[in-house]
Amino acid sequence: MEDASAALPEPLFQRAVGLLRELTAISSPSGDAGGLHQMAERLAGELRERGLTAEIREEPSTEAGRPLPVLYARGNPGTGASRGPLLLVGHLDTVLAATPPRLDGDRLVGTGALDMKGGLATLVGALDLLRHRGQAPPPDLLLVAVPDEEVGGELSRAVVRRWGETARALWVLEPGEPAGEAETIVAGRRGMVQWRLEVQGTAAHSGLHYWEGRSAVTAAARWALEAERYSHDQGGPTVNIGRLVAGDSSFVDHLDTAHALLGTERQLNVVPDRAVAEGEMRFLRPEDCGRMLKYLRELAEDVGIFSRTTVTFTTGPEIPPVNPEGPHAALCRRAVELAAARGWRLEIETDRGGISFPNFLPDPNRLPILDGLGPVGSGMHTRDESVSLESLRRRIVLLADLLAEDGCGAEPGHPYRSGP
Ligand SMILES: [Zn+2]
Repeated sequence: MEDASAALPEPLFQRAVGLLRELTAISSPSGDAGGLHQMAERLAGELRERGLTAEIREEPSTEAGRPLPVLYARGNPGTGASRGPLLLVGHLDTVLAATPPRLDGDRLVGTGALDMKGGLATLVGALDLLRHRGQAPPPDLLLVAVPDEEVGGELSRAVVRRWGETARALWVLEPGEPAGEAETIVAGRRGMVQWRLEVQGTAAHSGLHYWEGRSAVTAAARWALEAERYSHDQGGPTVNIGRLVAGDSSFVDHLDTAHALLGTERQLNVVPDRAVAEGEMRFLRPEDCGRMLKYLRELAEDVGIFSRTTVTFTTGPEIPPVNPEGPHAALCRRAVELAAARGWRLEIETDRGGISFPNFLPDPNRLPILDGLGPVGSGMHTRDESVSLESLRRRIVLLADLLAEDGCGAEPGHPYRSGP
């Protein structure tokens, strides 16, 4: 075991800190084509200096209404072309526009310092460290840095879908999480399906014809209460009732004006005939998805029969989960060992809730995924966002160790090769 600081020469570390400072000074909020360009150019220059082939492509974004830059950087693509690439993904955009970064003890406070310019600086630092050791990154390395991750953008999704189809592995430079003295990488990410429930009941005057009415409000409420009970903690699926709008159809179908009814006495004498509920279901195990949707659909049928209303349950596209026991389980454990050998503790996060790059893969359980490789910090997406420099140091060494093990060391003729 050794001290992490001994594994990374101080000048290389300071260079990475300096680069991160520069990257966070560039203002590149999602949608700011000029700033995103500047980020892409700056990063491309750094990667070229380290022997990668970098290009910036303008890719059309219907959401942004104009093309946005996507950065592609490759190792030595002439070799090892029989398999798909080792795909590394990151993003150039931030939520906020930049304010000047500053050092504060062990922290670099800056816009996107944590999410995720820190991850990009980690990669550049790892390439420096490999070169210093006379080692090479895997020749089939392909870094793709997208401009619209923070808005869940179409380019982020398209790029991961496209390159993830053939990639032999996916490594994600998003930050890990602090865990006491330890830090995490992410092995499991939840998948998600959005759903919609519509209930059509029968309206009636509640004074004169109460028993002729079929309340859509109570039918939808009954479904919602039961549906929520399918949620389980400890890695189980969860059902969130995001909203429930119900009342008589003139209210529900004309909310833009009918909201004025709220707080008045009007139409309280109507047994309500219309309800719409919308929400999502999240799940960690791939098999939970079909099972849960079957329950929710059957529940809709049962409620319809019981309440004598017409209940329709529909779902959107399935965003698949990353199974923590997927093909990357051994690689995650290896990362933990590599960190331990450098004197710090890395833990495996098996159940992260947010949707991120790996969820956009055509099949996240086909290939090994190392997620959360970037340094940890705090204040993500706030004005006090900061990254831990100690973590940056650790993560540079970890990423270099992982890349060195994944590749086969330096090969003849490669720019990283040192010595004879
Ligand atoms: Zn991010």
